[in-house]
Amino acid sequence: MPAFSTIMWVLGAVVLFFVLWFVGTGMLRSMTTPLPPPPPEGELRKVNVRYRCSICGSEVRMTLATDEDPPPPRHCGDEMDMVAPLYD
Ligand SMILES: [Zn+2]
Repeated sequence: MPAFSTIMWVLGAVVLFFVLWFVGTGMLRSMTTPLPPPPPEGELRKVNVRYRCSICGSEVRMTLATDEDPPPPRHCGDEMDMVAPLYD
């Protein structure tokens, strides 16, 4: 029969373990919270903008964005240059 103080130590360790575990997983969860889902399609703006990569010359066309003046996409590690909007 272990001494009463030994039992208290073990109980304390178990409680501490669970406290740390909950705090740890809570922090982990808050850090890995997924990005909010994109807004429904109706809230997206239809845009028609072309961007050109100043490094490799690739061009992309953006047709849907969260606002009418979206931040330029990145290519080759740099922001792409906006080419005049298309009106077609
Ligand atoms: Zn590029």
